Amino acid sequence: TLLVDDEEGGVVFLSSSTSSASSSGFGYASLERQRQRLPVYRYRKAILYLVERHATTIVVGETGSGKSTQIPQYLKEAGWADGGRLIGCTQPRRLAVQTVASRVAEEAGVKLGEEVGYTIRFEDQTNPGITMIKFLTDGVLIREMMEDPLLTKYRRRNSLLGSSDDMPDPEPAILSVEGKGYTVEIHYVEEPVSDYLQAAVNTVLLIHEKEPPGDILVFLTGQDDIDTAVKLLNEEIQHLGRHYFDLLILPLYSGLPRTDQDLIFTPTSKGKRKVVISTNIAETSLTLEGVVYVVDSGFSKQKCYNPVSDIESLVVAPISKASARQRAGRAGRVRPGKCFRLYTEEYYLNEMQAEGIPEMQRSNLVSCVIQLKALGIDNILGFDWPASPSPEAMIRALEVLYSLGILDEDAKLTVPIGFQVAEIPLVLWYQGSPAMVTMSSQLIHVEFSKSWFVEDIISRPYSCMIKDPMISKMLLSANDFGCSDEILTIASFLSVQSVWVSVRGVKKEFDEAKLRFAAAEKKVIDIRGQLLRLMKGFGIPLKSCEGDMKAVRKAIIAGSFANACHLEEYSQNGMYKTTRTSQEVYIHPSSVLFRVNPKWVVYQSLVSTDKHYMRNVIAIEPSWLTEAAPHFYQYRTPNPALS
Ligand code: ADP
Repeated sequence: TLLVDDEEGGVVFLSSSTSSASSSGFGYASLERQRQRLPVYRYRKAILYLVERHATTIVVGETGSGKSTQIPQYLKEAGWADGGRLIGCTQPRRLAVQTVASRVAEEAGVKLGEEVGYTIRFEDQTNPGITMIKFLTDGVLIREMMEDPLLTKYRRRNSLLGSSDDMPDPEPAILSVEGKGYTVEIHYVEEPVSDYLQAAVNTVLLIHEKEPPGDILVFLTGQDDIDTAVKLLNEEIQHLGRHYFDLLILPLYSGLPRTDQDLIFTPTSKGKRKVVISTNIAETSLTLEGVVYVVDSGFSKQKCYNPVSDIESLVVAPISKASARQRAGRAGRVRPGKCFRLYTEEYYLNEMQAEGIPEMQRSNLVSCVIQLKALGIDNILGFDWPASPSPEAMIRALEVLYSLGILDEDAKLTVPIGFQVAEIPLVLWYQGSPAMVTMSSQLIHVEFSKSWFVEDIISRPYSCMIKDPMISKMLLSANDFGCSDEILTIASFLSVQSVWVSVRGVKKEFDEAKLRFAAAEKKVIDIRGQLLRLMKGFGIPLKSCEGDMKAVRKAIIAGSFANACHLEEYSQNGMYKTTRTSQEVYIHPSSVLFRVNPKWVVYQSLVSTDKHYMRNVIAIEPSWLTEAAPHFYQYRTPNPALS
């Protein structure tokens, strides 16, 4: 049985979407009592009946009504996991996967990773043969489909869509789970605020001063402004004195260390007031009990892609009305609540967009195209997208895949080698394989022995994959330059958000920063171990180039040649232009090459704030570009400097 939970809460084979606020118990009753108070509990029998009789059941119910945590347990109790089968439940975010899984393990009274487990990229907390309920991200499920297209380990029936012999009704059943909603009183600012961060801080203090007990949930945009707000609030509390010491300020964003995640869900002790300062992860992916007040900045960090410049960036952008309503609803779960919007009513009514733009239309499509091709869906232009991406974005993705040698001129996976290559970025198998990997500078040649390909893919569990085809190409190229050891480390570092943490001098913060660094570093070591096994599986030996950084930089270029930039000759302020699209970019101030401004550079990612900033930059010689990708640079860049 497979439960797919989408960001709006939707589930195919049990899904949901959102409307007004619902209720669950107030106070902290026993776990069993808490389970029984959730809106889905009353529908337990109906859900089990529908799942028995329909190929697909869609459960609609708002965030926090118990879809993710309860329905898998109902199914397990009804025997759907008997006989070694799995009940899978997807979540859109990694953090949601972890917290929901740990909650369900707690409710079921079992150790996480045994009967109840989870899998996210680079982290598998399941125990084959023992795990019955498994939480996973959508991405991991798609990758599992490459190993097992029919998802047999989740199925009791012959067919997912329902065949006539074992399924009475292939039509989906739709069930709406009603929850009693409490009213939420909306407050707007009278005048637009110039600094939403400071406004949020002031509003929290005002709520604490004027309003009866109840936790506060503040929606800001990202780790940076959340950390700043936490610091500002703590300073204010020290300044304002005792009455404010009851406030417990907690940040919430993905990548938060485990101990901090647990604090978020720990019941607030009597006389205290919890203030959770969160990204939009608390909008639909996580539900916090006890929240009565919501402070909505009106902004969130959103992925945004410009196919003309081929730049994908995270930008702070205004949210939609749908998001604003969802945020407000978080205040009405336990009793009537209040939402403080840091924007004017006039703005809400006349300027805010009704709905957000689907992520598919805000993304670079490289990974998506490669996934479809690898699943055998070749006609991507005629594909029935829920929200069609733009033709420009599609063309850009095809161009990159062509330049990496993964697609041929007809946008087909190159046969036979390219087809296999196309699967590498997505599913890399690391366990003992007789696969031979040889490299040329343009194409990755992988010779799979037939038996390995068939046997291993069927019998060996998914364990690791690399999402970015450019990083995969870099890894596989490392052997050519005798620096697989160094490249392995670099690839592992690129797979975590950042190991660097800023330190603001204060002792406590310094200790926290060190802890966060340790957590990130340990993760890097873990990923490196996984990648190492995988490289060995491909027959790539571990070899160090003993400090020959030229070799390392050349191996990096083998994957990232399309991200080359040159310094504008007469630029006073370090302006670069990308060779592909002549986009203005700058070296990020955190880079050691900031102000050094080498003539030619290659970057790994761009961040956009006031300008487009290159992160993870190396200096290169332009001739290395034509060496690495003659097919790409000859026709794209008739630049004399390159010839
Ligand atoms: P849905 O999937 O319908 O959005 P969930 O099943 O995720 O709802 O959540 C149901 C309830 O379980 C919510 O009231 C939420 O507060 C609670 N819950 C979820 N995860 C945790 C956790 N890690 N700790 C404590 N409570 C949790």
